[in-house]
Amino acid sequence: MSLASFKSTILHNLVSKPKTRRTEKEYPAGTRGHVENDMDVCVLCGLCSIKCPTHAITVDKAAKTWSIRPMSCIQCRCCVDNCPKKCLSMGLRFQEPGSEKVTHTFKQSEKAIAAQEALMKAAKERAAAAAAAKAAQAQAQGQAAPAPAPAAKAPENKTEEK
Ligand code: SF4
Ligand code: SF4
Repeated sequence: MSLASFKSTILHNLVSKPKTRRTEKEYPAGTRGHVENDMDVCVLCGLCSIKCPTHAITVDKAAKTWSIRPMSCIQCRCCVDNCPKKCLSMGLRFQEPGSEKVTHTFKQSEKAIAAQEALMKAAKERAAAAAAAKAAQAQAQGQAAPAPAPAAKAPENKTEEK
């Protein structure tokens, strides 16, 4: 490289914009930053936990919590695509760097708990109504059916006396 072209390269670099991207301000389309969960919508069904190939997600139905280990997540988006409530998303922000394997735990919101309980109550009521209707139908069919015919008298065994 001649000295003249070297100088032109230096001058060009001095006046041109940086080629690198400010990642904390700009995220390209399709960035798979990290998994976020809207706990107002999550019903703790556990499907995301089952689908996660790295077992990064844990769902505790009894404690009503959803947990994720960010360092185990490979940003495959499998949980997001399989969530039936569509409450998971890939946040447009990269993971914070860290030296410890942390677990982020989120508790199901009161709103989601109330909504889930209402859904379960409605489902139980529907099941009870269906069972009652079925029992009533069976009873009606039993009353409408003709009375069974009396059993035929069995022939007497006669032995001839000599
Ligand atoms: S995030 Fe979605 S898939 Fe996972 S437990 Fe909640 S509702 Fe189910
Ligand atoms: S993005 Fe993939 S690896 Fe990360 S939590 Fe979801 S399913 Fe697991």
